[in-house]
Amino acid sequence: MDNFDLKVDKALNEPLSNENYFSTAHSLKYMGSSQFKAFLECESGALAELNGEYPREETTALLVGSYVDAHFEGSLDIFRAKHPEIFKQNGDLKAEYKQADYIIQRIERDPVFMKYMSGKKQVIMTGEIAGVPYKIKIDSYHEDKAIVDLKCMRDFQPQWKDGRKQNFVDFWRYDIQGAIYREVVRQNTGKVLPFIIAGVTKEKETDLGLFEIPQEVLDVALAEVVEKSPRFNEIKQGKIVAERCEKCNSCRFTKKLTGFTDYRIMEVIGLWRYKNAR
Ligand SMILES: [Zn+2]
Repeated sequence: MDNFDLKVDKALNEPLSNENYFSTAHSLKYMGSSQFKAFLECESGALAELNGEYPREETTALLVGSYVDAHFEGSLDIFRAKHPEIFKQNGDLKAEYKQADYIIQRIERDPVFMKYMSGKKQVIMTGEIAGVPYKIKIDSYHEDKAIVDLKCMRDFQPQWKDGRKQNFVDFWRYDIQGAIYREVVRQNTGKVLPFIIAGVTKEKETDLGLFEIPQEVLDVALAEVVEKSPRFNEIKQGKIVAERCEKCNSCRFTKKLTGFTDYRIMEVIGLWRYKNAR
């Protein structure tokens, strides 16, 4: 039994829960939607993150989202205790988290948004896509009706990627998440449910919206997940060497120079980067 199996084997002894959902052992055993997207961006970077060699930075932007998530999960007290960095020295919340409180109040003023957020919270399910074990955690699950995911973002404006402006769903690849969630729910319940983004913005005045990702978009995204999952899983198992993107933090961190090059190559790399910008 190699190292990978040993680590995964340990994970098998404890069922998936909210406490261990993001543990290394379970992340090695299961693919998840964030992990799949990390592999899409850079295989080498995703692997380095999994192995703890180059952990993903916990940014304030991500923490604000987690703060709002925690409120709707009913675990805000635990979150506050775990993250002393969200407070100023005088004990007040830092400005970003005061704004998170404002976002929460705004959501609570909208009965329709609240209805969508009133499903079962943080429902964990597992399944298998293209022979690869998958795990999902649903923010608000309405049995037989809908899968709802809460997203806290800067705004709903399109952003530049791959040389064109893309709407926020395409930019953040929420279609991939929706496809994985819909498929794992289908495997567990036999029901094909709508996938809805409950979006809120961090603008001075919070905007909010409920956005469905249509089934045909999820079908296309699922085909991509089916196509690429086996390769990503074999990279995790050490059977295939991960490709490097040469533009992410992890690739810069592990870059090894082998000599000098004609400086004009930078223009070529620059162009390549532009074309492949994500
Ligand atoms: Zn990279």
